[in-house]
Amino acid sequence: MNFRTIAAVSTPRGKGGIAVIRISGDRAAETAERMFRPASGKKLGECEPRRAVFGTILDAGDEPVDTGIAVLFRAPASFTGEDVAEISCHGGPAATEAVYLSAIAHGADAAGPGEFTRRAFLNGKLSLTEAEAVGRLIDADTAERLALSAGGLRGNVSRRIEAISAGMLSTMTALYAAIDYPEEDVGDEGEREIGNTLRRSLGEVNALLSTYRTGRAVADGVKTVICGRPNVGKSSLFNLMTGEDSAIVTDIAGTTRDILRETVSFGGVTLRLADTAGLRGDTDGSVEEIGVERARREIGSAELILAVFDGSMPLTREDRELLALLSGVGGDAVKIAVINKADRGCVLGEAELSEMDGICGSGGRIVMSAASGDGSALAEAVGAAFRAGEFDLRRDAVIWDVRQRAALEHARSALEGAADALEAGDPIDCVCTLAEEAMAALDETDGRTVEEGIVDEIFKRFCVGK
Ligand code: GDP
Repeated sequence: MNFRTIAAVSTPRGKGGIAVIRISGDRAAETAERMFRPASGKKLGECEPRRAVFGTILDAGDEPVDTGIAVLFRAPASFTGEDVAEISCHGGPAATEAVYLSAIAHGADAAGPGEFTRRAFLNGKLSLTEAEAVGRLIDADTAERLALSAGGLRGNVSRRIEAISAGMLSTMTALYAAIDYPEEDVGDEGEREIGNTLRRSLGEVNALLSTYRTGRAVADGVKTVICGRPNVGKSSLFNLMTGEDSAIVTDIAGTTRDILRETVSFGGVTLRLADTAGLRGDTDGSVEEIGVERARREIGSAELILAVFDGSMPLTREDRELLALLSGVGGDAVKIAVINKADRGCVLGEAELSEMDGICGSGGRIVMSAASGDGSALAEAVGAAFRAGEFDLRRDAVIWDVRQRAALEHARSALEGAADALEAGDPIDCVCTLAEEAMAALDETDGRTVEEGIVDEIFKRFCVGK
């Protein structure tokens, strides 16, 4: 057993009813025993595992400091797969600190970020995607983010990948047999079967990859820009999207006063309304205009562009400039033309509307009234653009992480290569090498074989105590 025994406060800092100090490793029971005296008079190590034991907690100097509950989990039946002791004390900052320092004084080392979850992964208690889901679950601040991480933790993605790998096994066996016994021809039938499996696996990998756009839009959020000339209703739209009804999940003032970022749950995905200075209106009444100039700077990096127009009056020169700007935006960015002030009627002609449709493409155009407070049409358009309604985040396999996507893309190209090589009549060794590469990439997606450095990178993002 080569691991240190580690301890950390696993509940948030600050005042709370209770705080939990978690200890994991070979010496967890011994450490907990030295700092915790069960009221029953027994030693903690003699108490039944997984049972709450009431007792006195001693500080680093062996003085009673609090009363609380200790639960001992014996390896491998614990979160980390090692012996784990969880000690709950009263959640005052000083009490929590004293109990934590007591654990350190009595034999544990300070845990690093994500070290508990990392151990759970290394001991096979969680796959890497599940471990990543734990991190996301703890960070989840919207209903969709919670559903996505809960689904990940339930192993939705891991199970799908396992199923694809399992489907490939018979093909691998057939390929190895063909290499080992070259005199026994695979035959047309056999080749067709191998080809079918490769193509079917490819289809499954592609289906999983196609969930990335939605998963990422929920997990990381979509960088969104609201643009348009002055007075079209951008602030009204911004306020509608971030208002009481649509949950504001973060509100971080940047280093300068005028940089404001809001993350909102909208249309079933997460929108990051970035650099929205001025949209709010300022307390001193000075409203910086985010006109077309500003849009010019921001549009390039946006993933969702909400271009607002005032439908109650003819398009102005600035509106046309914005349209020209939008038509130059390519790539994956979603463009939605928001024709605002619908309550005053729409004076825009067919030609202008269809020009907007042409420029916005799949994002489309909606007619609404920001002042009315009804953002449902926009929410629907945003949801549709990111296919939010198509997946049940809790039940379907939805990937959300760039690492998972890269590994799956690797699997896809290897599978494509293998299927093409087979069809081209290339030597069977060559088909086999590519199929093996695809299997390895699938394993990597799920973290069954993954480089140490990548594992480090993932767990570094966790905080201490997870
Ligand atoms: P911005 O300069 O683009 O941010 O526009 P504002 O949101 O500040 O709106 C400019 C003016 O238009 C304000 O007086 C709003 O009350 C008004 N306005 C915004 N949306 C609507 C709408 O849907 N209908 C009507 N009638 N007025 C609106």
